[in-house]
Amino acid sequence: MSTRIVWLRRDLRLSDNPALTHAAARCERLLILYIHAPDEEAPWAPGGASRWWLHHSLERLSDALRDAGSELVIRRGPSLEVLRECIDATGADAVCWNRLYDPATRERDGRIKQALRDDGVETRSFNAALLAEPWTVETGSGGPYRVFTPFWKAIREDIGALSPAPVPTLPPPPDIPSEPLASLELLPTLNWADDFSRHWTPGADGARQRLDGFLTDSLEHYADGRDIPSQDLTSGLSPHLHFGEIGPREVLAATRATSSDDGRTRSAKNADKFLSEVAWREFAHHLLFHFPHTTEAVMNPRFRQFSWDGNAQDLDAWQRGRTGIPIVDAGMRQLWRTGWMHNRVRMIVGSLLTKNLRHHWLEGARWFWDTLVDADLANNTLGWQWIAGCGADAAPYFRIFNPVSQGEKFDADGDYVRRFVPELARLPNRYVHAPWSAPADVLRAAALRLGHDYPLPIVDLKASRQAALAAYDAVKG
Ligand SMILES: Cc1cc2nc3c(=O)[nH]c(=O)nc-3n(C[C@H](O)[C@H](O)[C@H](O)COP(=O)(O)OP(=O)(O)OC[C@H]3O[C@@H](n4cnc5c(N)ncnc54)[C@H](O)[C@@H]3O)c2cc1C
Repeated sequence: MSTRIVWLRRDLRLSDNPALTHAAARCERLLILYIHAPDEEAPWAPGGASRWWLHHSLERLSDALRDAGSELVIRRGPSLEVLRECIDATGADAVCWNRLYDPATRERDGRIKQALRDDGVETRSFNAALLAEPWTVETGSGGPYRVFTPFWKAIREDIGALSPAPVPTLPPPPDIPSEPLASLELLPTLNWADDFSRHWTPGADGARQRLDGFLTDSLEHYADGRDIPSQDLTSGLSPHLHFGEIGPREVLAATRATSSDDGRTRSAKNADKFLSEVAWREFAHHLLFHFPHTTEAVMNPRFRQFSWDGNAQDLDAWQRGRTGIPIVDAGMRQLWRTGWMHNRVRMIVGSLLTKNLRHHWLEGARWFWDTLVDADLANNTLGWQWIAGCGADAAPYFRIFNPVSQGEKFDADGDYVRRFVPELARLPNRYVHAPWSAPADVLRAAALRLGHDYPLPIVDLKASRQAALAAYDAVKG
């Protein structure tokens, strides 16, 4: 009886999963295997919030497979050893998986592919995660893209033809034991993540609900609303996309169907904007694949000698949402409480950390890595290098976000700040983004003692901006 193995990694879904579809059509027994081997992703093994997500996602996947007459078998790594044990135990003659693009897993997967082939086992890999794999797109002169707009132009026509595949009929599983999910010890021992489940439903059903809800309620406000952090107008799909609970082909097809059903120009404009953000994810993977060193080192060589000289105390205040700068503290507390932060605010907190406080962008990237449920090596690396000014298509070095004017512009009525920094709830709008500028009687009326109930700013925004400009000026090109 022929047996195959599908090795699931960050493709935790049954629909539009080409490795699963391929294997299911070619065997009588199908082993669906998840191997927990975080060390193989070092130095970017999943952080705390990602592990929380993964636990729940595996639980949901296991339920879905049981409902489909199959089973999820969970094992702990090393991956090659586990695959060989499973091949021995089941007599499987082929292993299929969907490709990943980060340096550590690419190296591992290449090694495993060779070793299994040497053992005489067939291996097949597929694309489940991207609209355009990194090696399929190149500039006119033949190299990788470094700027987003031409990259998006190059892929947007071709991706029009992509359509997602349905859930396949699954052959029964071979009789092979699984380890209990709890043995992976993915959940935090602190009660830190207790609130996450109020905000998120990991798993493919949760992903589909998010997408449907977004397309029905928010897409038509996306282009203008996506920058307003107090409003829930972005898709919230990032952790689902990261773990492959939904694929980008499914997102693309559903978005196009919605905007063409409805036929309004407004909707087409919003759909275009949304798909261009999804394409930033493609661009991030393109960069990560072609410039794998950028997970640790600057993309722009001019920044190799840049003096990042932040101090530990400021980093701690930033992480805990105690900088005394309201929109920054609101963002950092949103992150801690919900495992996610609005994109506009990610840029504001990143600019403060790398420019005003002059911390190395890797300090920010590492904190996000541990606390974001959507922590993704491609997107996080791109985001941090972009905001620090040392990345591809980076903000001009002189663009230093002023967190007060950003707050006044994108959180004009202070709703976002008030939600996450309740100490400031009673301040009038005029002062909510700069409480230090409020007169004493206003502070008294708001029951706010600066430096006591809420910190004074840890940095002089104007002076630190000048110092950052001078430092960036030295490396500009
Ligand atoms: C400093 C910094 C760090 C970041 N770290 C991450 C990270 O670890 N993981 C992550 O998924 N995103 C990261 N981003 C990008 C962006 O903030 C999130 O993708 C977005 O906020 C997710 O919310 P959403 O799903 O509602 O986005 P939507 O606006 O609904 O966008 C839809 C999808 O497009 C993709 N996308 C949107 N914006 C970007 C972007 N700028 N870069 C790459 N992909 C994008 C995401 O997959 C997202 O789910 C980072 C941005 C910055 C500035």
